[in-house]
Amino acid sequence: MSLLSVGTVAFDSIETPFGNAEKIIGGSCTYIALAASYFAPKVNIVAVVGDDFPQSEIDNFKEHGVGTDGLQVKKDQKSFFWKGKYHMDMNSRDTLATELNVLADFDPIIPDSYQDCKYLLLGNLTPAIQKTVIQRLKQRPKLIVMDTMNFWMETALPELKETLKLVDVLSINDEEARQLSGEYSIVKAAAKIIQMGPKFLIIKKGEHGALLFDSKQVFFAPALPLEEVFDPTGAGDTFAGGFLGYLAQTDDISFDNMKRAVIYGSAMASFCVAKFGPEGLKGISADRISQRVRDFIDLVQFEISLV
Ligand code: AMP
Repeated sequence: MSLLSVGTVAFDSIETPFGNAEKIIGGSCTYIALAASYFAPKVNIVAVVGDDFPQSEIDNFKEHGVGTDGLQVKKDQKSFFWKGKYHMDMNSRDTLATELNVLADFDPIIPDSYQDCKYLLLGNLTPAIQKTVIQRLKQRPKLIVMDTMNFWMETALPELKETLKLVDVLSINDEEARQLSGEYSIVKAAAKIIQMGPKFLIIKKGEHGALLFDSKQVFFAPALPLEEVFDPTGAGDTFAGGFLGYLAQTDDISFDNMKRAVIYGSAMASFCVAKFGPEGLKGISADRISQRVRDFIDLVQFEISLV
């Protein structure tokens, strides 16, 4: 009864108004797996790196109980590299470089020991590879969540639309939802995207929170107002990891439980943005997570008597 995370394990270079970080650890799978590891009974990863990737970071996955049998290390090849720059409004960023390297011919081999996967998180990755992973699982997982980004909408839209038909939940940001649907209104965009395949849609709005839609209802969760936001990289993946990790822990995929999962995902994202790279996700105590969730409850709770 495990959670499988597939995505990039990478090097990132990041520029924010508060500083730069060169060639630090990143990748969608990295953030997802670390965030999910705080909740799901077992987290496994399928990803690829070059032999330039540090063993200490692979050990860090293991320290978080993350299974790395599906992490391929390619000799004499370079890991995926992404470089991004954030502006003063850290909700928007420019991609300055995307070097696929090992990702260009990645064959996602799923170890037999991962076949008990009940929850699948397809992190940001080539849509064709995301589809291959679904096809290689002998039994369809109870819930498949998928993340993607504008890069794949621009370079692989037909494959992206094919993969969308096979998943239960899509998690994207508001700009990506507008691009995918061609609609400016988030409500209209959500309705169109739900028609493309996923039964649920999460639209992330950075520091303005996240919306969860199904075909009939919508739920909104704010992001916690934080004093220090150093680096939003990976916040979306961390959110998705916390979201699905919580669903795997509770084994309940009702809309009501997804609302709680959105809060847990948002709480994990608040730890992520406070430090560069995935540093903020390492070694968080259960008490700190509970306190963050309490902060969310306090933030939105109010009493009102209707006249
Ligand atoms: P997020 O900020 O949640 O969108 O995730 C940022 C992470 O996604 C970074 O650590 C990057 O290494 C990774 N990333 C950036 N571009 C891509 C891409 N085209 N495909 C897969 N992963 C990517």
